[in-house]
Amino acid sequence: MINLRTIPTDFKEVRIAVLGAKRSGVMAAILFARKGAKVLLSDAGSVEIETEHLFELNRLNIDIELGGHTSKVTGSELAILSPGIPNSAPVVQSLIQAGIPIVSEIEAASWFIENSTIIGVTGSNGKTTTTTLLNEMFKDTIFEPYCGGNIGVSLSKLVMDAEKSTVPNKVFILELSSFQLERIVHFHPNISIMLNITPDHMDRYEHDLMLYFAAKLRIAINQNRNDFYIYNDDDRLLCENLPKNCQTVPAGIYSKSEKPVYADEKSIYLKSGEKLIDRLELFLLGEHNLYNILASLNAALICGITPTHLRNVLKRFKGIEHRLEYITTINGVDYYNDSKATNVDSVNYALKSFTRPVIVILGGKDKDSDFSLLIPNLKKHAKEAILVGKAAAVIRVALEGVLPLTDVGYDMEKAIRTAQAKANPGDVIMLSPACASFDMYNDYEHRGRDFKEIVHKVEKETKSA
Ligand code: ADP
Repeated sequence: MINLRTIPTDFKEVRIAVLGAKRSGVMAAILFARKGAKVLLSDAGSVEIETEHLFELNRLNIDIELGGHTSKVTGSELAILSPGIPNSAPVVQSLIQAGIPIVSEIEAASWFIENSTIIGVTGSNGKTTTTTLLNEMFKDTIFEPYCGGNIGVSLSKLVMDAEKSTVPNKVFILELSSFQLERIVHFHPNISIMLNITPDHMDRYEHDLMLYFAAKLRIAINQNRNDFYIYNDDDRLLCENLPKNCQTVPAGIYSKSEKPVYADEKSIYLKSGEKLIDRLELFLLGEHNLYNILASLNAALICGITPTHLRNVLKRFKGIEHRLEYITTINGVDYYNDSKATNVDSVNYALKSFTRPVIVILGGKDKDSDFSLLIPNLKKHAKEAILVGKAAAVIRVALEGVLPLTDVGYDMEKAIRTAQAKANPGDVIMLSPACASFDMYNDYEHRGRDFKEIVHKVEKETKSA
């Protein structure tokens, strides 16, 4: 068995089973095979591996088994587990019984990171936004950023890319899920960010919020006095469970604590009182995004990124596709794509982000949501709702009499044109559906792209009219 008391360094002929053959599993298999290990890549399902990767897996003599795990798995000396495989899976139980060490891909890949800065981002919401914003903040600085983890590129791939670079200052900016953190041993971020905790993935944590939170808190277990844990100190649960082994940095909005970066309704300031940026200059809207911005700023400032550079990044960062994404302005009306808002909670955040009247496009495939929870924010921020897709009838029942409602059937173009006809200059038209997309689209991204294409079509027509 491999000894994990210290970070292993020699993988020659070591038998490693990589469980789960999606992107991160494939990349971990390639990484360890290149380091000399004898790798088995095993998946219970029938996944399709991209040809280019299949070629490399074969070149490296990686043993691949798809459609079921065989006993070869328990013949390994180390297992690298995909985050999608729950602890209750029989294969995990067999590994535990056989006494085989199990680690996550994040842990395993991190063994090859030397002399670099690692920033880990976790929490229930805002991880992707914060990670992506941080990546932008580190571009065009003395650092070379490598961004991925739970989003986009796996750490194994980032490590292989970084090994090709001679730039001395590398920073790894990693989005981390609770599943990846559950199985870390030595993973050691220099800066960790805990954004917030709300119930999520409860099916994997015995419906116990504290079990889920405990997994997330593991982000800080290997940190020391030279390291930083940035947290939202408006969140009581986070304040009551601070790690004691590293420096803690509060990054809330409302708390009275003294902070390296703080905000009021108008601006964001540095500790010295110097104004960093007016909030009106930000494209990233809403209180939830302000938390993400404050956390990112803290991390970047710790690394020595200058306020001037950070101000410029914030002025141009338009947010992430499908998350309250600004598209364009037509005849004084701003169009936003918030297709990722597939639940009521997200739509409430989106509505609260505007002080101008909103015409909101709601609907899609219902997830048994309680749409009446939207009423207070609709009353305050919206002037009309356009109802689209399968859930339109249920939403109408919940919102009848609250604000004007128009049904447009299964037709996004009609939804946009109806909203346009009702809008005045200064209004906002926003797709923030509170529903899944599968009644009309493959996924929320497909829906968001369609929405944007139609908006751009309308824009062209308006310009040429
Ligand atoms: P994640 O990667 O954690 O799922 P995203 O950055 O993709 O988070 O944001 C997803 C949705 O979560 C957003 O559309 C917004 O509704 C909500 N959200 C984003 N940031 C926060 C935050 N700091 N607090 C609460 N909700 C947030």
